[in-house]
Amino acid sequence: MDLNSTLHALIPTYDSVILLFVFFAYLAIAGSILPGKVIPGVVLSDGTRLHYRCNGLLSLLLLVMLLGLGVWMNFVSSTVIADQGLELLSTTFIFSILVTFVLFIAGSNSRARSSSLKPHTTGNLVQDWWLGIQLNPQFMGIDLKFFFVRAGMMGWLLINLSILGKCFQDATLSPSMFLYQLFCGLYILDYFFYEEYMTSTWDIIAERLGFMLVFGDLVWIPFTFSIQGWWLLVNKVELTKASMVANCIVFLIGYRVFRGANKQKHMFKKNPKAPIWGSPPKVIGGKLLASGYWGIARHSNYLGDLLVALSFSLPCGISSPIPYFYPIYLLILLIWRERRDEARCATKYKEVWAEYCKLVPWRILPYVY
Ligand code: NDP
Repeated sequence: MDLNSTLHALIPTYDSVILLFVFFAYLAIAGSILPGKVIPGVVLSDGTRLHYRCNGLLSLLLLVMLLGLGVWMNFVSSTVIADQGLELLSTTFIFSILVTFVLFIAGSNSRARSSSLKPHTTGNLVQDWWLGIQLNPQFMGIDLKFFFVRAGMMGWLLINLSILGKCFQDATLSPSMFLYQLFCGLYILDYFFYEEYMTSTWDIIAERLGFMLVFGDLVWIPFTFSIQGWWLLVNKVELTKASMVANCIVFLIGYRVFRGANKQKHMFKKNPKAPIWGSPPKVIGGKLLASGYWGIARHSNYLGDLLVALSFSLPCGISSPIPYFYPIYLLILLIWRERRDEARCATKYKEVWAEYCKLVPWRILPYVY
């Protein structure tokens, strides 16, 4: 595709707008009516608590089933997303900007009306627009932050499935594409299987909803996390059996550490006496877990996630840096996030945090960082 046609494809089309809005409408309806465990969120500054209905897995499976049926009945093409990739990218990008402006205006107005929820504003317009003003904005009873991250993760899978559809159409499915699809598919399904764990993550409890998060969820996650898939559509990679096995091992170790660490913290928050790896947990100041993965490094979950991210790129071989965009980006993001989380925890837990750092000196990777 030359530059001219690429630029032309970046103009939103009627189809891309319809696709995006049908997707959002489905998510809003499915999220509101499908059954799911209702999880209480953290207590907000005004003492109230949000509740999250964790029915993402059911919503996703139903959506994939409906799409499968649509493809089977020739109602929709399996490659519709892959064919409209650039148009969807620009449509979602424009939508993110519009939503952020609405959030900014709504946040400014609610700040003027009520002081019960502390204004999360710096007074700097650009910064407030970028980082957001409200922590948990709602629209028609929907928690937008939870909604957008769900849309992003599902969008990623839908893009991948459409790329897979293209491979089937062109009869070009390769072991590399298979591995990439398999690892991402498992990771996304796992995300929704454990969706309730999301309710206590940094994004949900501490990040305001501004352009950074809206863009991150709606554009960045689905479109850049799928770069390897797009890349494999046009590049051929020969993988040896040994490299495929090594790739699977990286995924499995990464997944085990990622999920294990997040699970241990989640269980600990629910029941601080729950055994960790079969032994009573080591707890600091009655608040912080210092055994299991949390006794090896202060953010082993980030290490696991990085290994998983690497396993998504390894099927692409090492001939180009492009497929490694996601793990490199994630490395930068998680190091930055770890620093911010560290500062937050140091303020929140004070001497208990200092004691934890003394006991567990490694941030992410033992003996390295
Ligand atoms: P964490 O799930 O690690 O949450 C950090 C919080 O956990 C802290 O603020 C603190 O909150 C609590 N905490 C920290 N240490 C302890 C401890 N020892 N014992 C008990 N509680 C502790 O961070 P994130 O929300 O950033 O990440 C969640 C997952 O999401 C990670 O696996 C990460 O890799 C992944 N992620 C993936 C991204 C991607 O783009 N793929 C982007 C960002 C995250 P509290 O005040 O509640 O105690």
